Amino acid sequence: MRVHPRWWVAAGFAVIAHTAVIAQELKVAPSTLVHAPMIQPPPAGEIEVLPIRGNIYALLGAGANIIASVGADGVLLVDAGTGELTDKVVAALAQLQREWSARNEPRPLGFGAETRSSVADRHIVAPPKPIRYIINTSSTRDHVGGNEKLRNTGRTFTGGNVANDIRDSMEGAAIIAHENVLVRLSQAPEGRPAPPADALPTDTYFNDLYKLSHFFNGEGVQLLHMPKASTDGDSIVYFRGSDVIALGDLMATESYPTFDADKGGSINGIIDGLNAVLDLAITEFRLEGGTMMVPGHGRIVDSGDVAYYRDMLTIIRDRIQDMVTKEMTLDEVKAARPAADYDPEYGRTPGWTSDMFIEAVYKSLGGGRTPPRPVRKK
Ligand SMILES: [Zn+2]
Repeated sequence: MRVHPRWWVAAGFAVIAHTAVIAQELKVAPSTLVHAPMIQPPPAGEIEVLPIRGNIYALLGAGANIIASVGADGVLLVDAGTGELTDKVVAALAQLQREWSARNEPRPLGFGAETRSSVADRHIVAPPKPIRYIINTSSTRDHVGGNEKLRNTGRTFTGGNVANDIRDSMEGAAIIAHENVLVRLSQAPEGRPAPPADALPTDTYFNDLYKLSHFFNGEGVQLLHMPKASTDGDSIVYFRGSDVIALGDLMATESYPTFDADKGGSINGIIDGLNAVLDLAITEFRLEGGTMMVPGHGRIVDSGDVAYYRDMLTIIRDRIQDMVTKEMTLDEVKAARPAADYDPEYGRTPGWTSDMFIEAVYKSLGGGRTPPRPVRKK
């Protein structure tokens, strides 16, 4: 069909006219909600700081993504990275705190000098508040490697007449995790020395749910146990005021999810976890915006991204489950390439290839438990 150019010109004018009307009518401030940005990972050895919403920031590049709540009460971190770039993480947090203080500093009165001088405290810059809490979403090294160093730069939140005593004892930040994280971390791997006590969780929970007993930086913070995700000790962390969820290893935007069946992880547990996250998240419009989520690895996501990832995993799981039911061997399953259509997007990570993922899924679905069939003679 041939469309007369006149119609395009007319349509163009209509759009321009309408836009002008909208511009005139728009009296409210534009939305300040942050939408999932398409980002490149920071260069190796660098930390990238992304504001998410409210007091919540993501620090990328130090291993697993670190989420930080920065504000009047100090700093709460979700995950600690591998530990190699901890000095840069601490520097980035101090910078965020300075910026926060600059934005929230009480204005000098500039008058009423008879009762209160505004000169005396004009040049006093408050020192950065300590790191008070570190939450570990799992026991894997890229999430807990920075525990010890970060803990020792912080102090637990105390008040009243115990504050001075605690300050003397130089106690570090509290490290919060599911108790299975503590169990796994305190078991020294064979032939290696036990991890230092300061690297271990100080506060653990063993129910489905754990919450900070009071607001931190103006909001409630809740941990939800994901019993069979990457391991048996995974948590997601929900910042209830900012409406931000830290997903831990339930999701990685550049690869298939990593999980370790030997440590209680499973593909079905990861899919269950993603479904629980989607139940918790509320979108702004259709599947876009609203609750923002930070996967353990990769970029910031919203419900649409999580639902797509969940669907992808469900499809691959169903294909492999079918092959397991048919008693196919691992080699046969790999040869059938059940993730072929998703490999270009998720199968390129050198440390976690498509084959490694397929093998983990196969094992977690009970594949290979029945003895292989006798080879038929042709
Ligand atoms: Zn991870």
